Amino acid sequence: MNIRRNVLLNPGPATTTDTVKMAQIVPDICPREKEFASLMKDLRKDLLKIVHAPETEYTSVLFCGSGTINIDVCINSLLPNNKKILVVNNGAYNSRAIEVCEMYHLPHINLQFSVFEQPKLDVIEEALEANPDIAVVYCCHHETGTGILNPIREIGALAHKYNAIFISDTTSTLGMIPLDVVEDNVDFCMASAQKGLMAMSGLSFIIGKTDIIKASKNYPTRSYYCNLYLQYEYFEKTGEMHFTPPVQTIYATIQALKEYFEEGETAKFKRHNDVYKAIHDGLEEIGFKTVIPREIESGLVVSVMYPEDQNWDFNKIHDYCQERGFTIYPGKISATNTFRLCSLGKIFPEDIKAFFNVFKEALDTFGINHK
Ligand SMILES: *Cc1c(COP(=O)(O)O)cnc(C)c1O
Repeated sequence: MNIRRNVLLNPGPATTTDTVKMAQIVPDICPREKEFASLMKDLRKDLLKIVHAPETEYTSVLFCGSGTINIDVCINSLLPNNKKILVVNNGAYNSRAIEVCEMYHLPHINLQFSVFEQPKLDVIEEALEANPDIAVVYCCHHETGTGILNPIREIGALAHKYNAIFISDTTSTLGMIPLDVVEDNVDFCMASAQKGLMAMSGLSFIIGKTDIIKASKNYPTRSYYCNLYLQYEYFEKTGEMHFTPPVQTIYATIQALKEYFEEGETAKFKRHNDVYKAIHDGLEEIGFKTVIPREIESGLVVSVMYPEDQNWDFNKIHDYCQERGFTIYPGKISATNTFRLCSLGKIFPEDIKAFFNVFKEALDTFGINHK
């Protein structure tokens, strides 16, 4: 087999190994077979291990869909009647949670912070104090739109202090930045297979407290397809997803988990960090500026300012790099012209060196000044 290797510097789907790609090529199977249910059973347990969730307290529930399905499911399923959700919002992905609240007409507070900063804990506490009907606090672990890492452990502690549950969207950190749901005060977290796990898109999962899921049986059901309790119950009764699972993606994810445990949590975290440092080094060398202070960056996404050069054209540079095996990604900060370089996936600092050679070539080709 000879598949071209592309270095994806976008924030997921990420560069995968050939072994993960090949794991999808399996004999046709009906996913209602026992054999397939047993694969999913092990997969659900392994997902708990990644976030150090004790099996006695937490469970994982799989869904067929991209990562956004988890946001939808968590928000529409975990809010009791006559209660509010507090969304701690410092960017595009937290805003997505607000949109979900709006679509379901759920009582919510959009606690807006600057997209250039971490949310402020005293402001969050004030909101909790002033609104005793808040039952759910929601915040992204990593605002993928900017690259800011949010202080979820502290936000989770505040939620618990005021008797609310804490949901964190960990889609762009799970499997990359070590997470311990107990120590980090996370009741529910989530991700999809194509980011930190370096598998394929189509499989998403929520890891959360079993007793809260069971309690949510009595909350209003707001969706037919995207209800957490219903999917959980179906898994517990039958071992299967309620509706057709993404079969091949599941095989790929099982292989990716094997590779995750082989590489190891600490080593993998370090590799992503080394790639991140190589990105900053490369940018510094050519004199490009970044947007977010490094102390609050996740180490997974770097937001880069467009250079002040009239010849700069993101699309042209993108296409030049893309043709040579490197994918760069547009920014998501509406007020600033940025693009993003990310350290997800099975990539290495050498890949970043190779990327910057191509990037400089692109700048020279289109007559853009650089150091
Ligand atoms: C990628 C991502 C998602 C999910 O996006 P999809 O396009 O639906 O896969 C959700 N939240 C965060 C923080 C993400 O980075």
